[in-house]
Amino acid sequence: MKWLLIGASTIAQQFVIDAIRAGGDEISWLVSGDEQRAAAFAVKNNIARFTTDLKLALSQQDIDAVYISTTNEKHFPQAMLALEYGKHVLCEKPMALSMEEATTMIERASACNQVLAVNHHLRNAATIRKMRDEIRNGTLGDILTVRFCHAVSLPENLIGWRTDNSAGNGVIMDITVHDIDTLRFLLDDDVVAVSAMAQDGLLSQSGSVETVMGTLRFSKGTLVSFFDSFTARNFETSIDVIGTQGTLRARNILTQNPVGEVTLHNRHGSEPLAIEHASLYERGLASFRDAIFNGGQPAASGDDGRQSLAVSLAVVKAVSSGITVHIGEEQ
Ligand code: NDP
Repeated sequence: MKWLLIGASTIAQQFVIDAIRAGGDEISWLVSGDEQRAAAFAVKNNIARFTTDLKLALSQQDIDAVYISTTNEKHFPQAMLALEYGKHVLCEKPMALSMEEATTMIERASACNQVLAVNHHLRNAATIRKMRDEIRNGTLGDILTVRFCHAVSLPENLIGWRTDNSAGNGVIMDITVHDIDTLRFLLDDDVVAVSAMAQDGLLSQSGSVETVMGTLRFSKGTLVSFFDSFTARNFETSIDVIGTQGTLRARNILTQNPVGEVTLHNRHGSEPLAIEHASLYERGLASFRDAIFNGGQPAASGDDGRQSLAVSLAVVKAVSSGITVHIGEEQ
């Protein structure tokens, strides 16, 4: 399969280009908003053709799929154009900035019979999948509560647009959106209500949220406390899932790399779970190919991306209003 990359981005260079190639696919074109950046990126990543003209690249008949990893406000218009040109789309999160945009993208993909997937990589982690299996098998009994810490120190080179409200929308659209997808996947359940408070002002003066803490209620009654941050130095990510029969403690698992440990604690004692780590992005790409060629489901579909967006928008509203926001009332 042949790919067009839309976006000369860090995530493409660090993870997704390798994952595409690991599956035997070819990256034949790159589109960037800047000619010089495109040229340098293409040379560095061994991509034969580059352009700033998106329609020119999309009109290449032999391109099957596009990977969109531009800044968040560009995802919707670029995905819509790619679908119009008959390409399958793997889009970065958040898939769009509004529910209306997300719904329009899903409807367009469905009408064109094209695969639309969202690159929520964490549901591809062997650690998260192992935890999900234990929860599904009933090892923990009923799930009562979850503590979810996705607090990191944002590297200097990634601060830019992430803390500029017009393009990035801060930590909620960057990290919380991943939490929501991971939690929906882990718990096989959907969020019904959100409350949250936030902090800003350390990395930029734009008012963009840099740290958010809040509570999610899921439809089956599970309560989740979440803590997402760009400003947590010397800290590690973690998930604790507490059930009526046992607890899972996961450490250093909310990352792009195939690492981390999960331990089961119950009345028999504690036991580390055996994890067969593998590339999160390669698994995601494999499921995307399977959806195109065999009618399977991508790891995270457009509908999954829409759900994670809905709850993230509800977190934004909960922060700005100070009230509990019910899903469906996020905009
Ligand atoms: P980058 O800042 O690296 O790239 C985003 C855009 O910024 C690029 O498309 C590029 O525009 C532009 N850009 C890149 N370098 C420069 C530069 N030196 N000067 C000016 N502009 C530049 O972002 P990320 O790779 O971190 O994120 C891209 C997208 O991927 C986001 O939507 C983010 O949410 C998502 N993401 C997803 C992750 C995941 O694991 N699923 C992880 C990290 C990010 P142009 O294309 O026009 O050249």
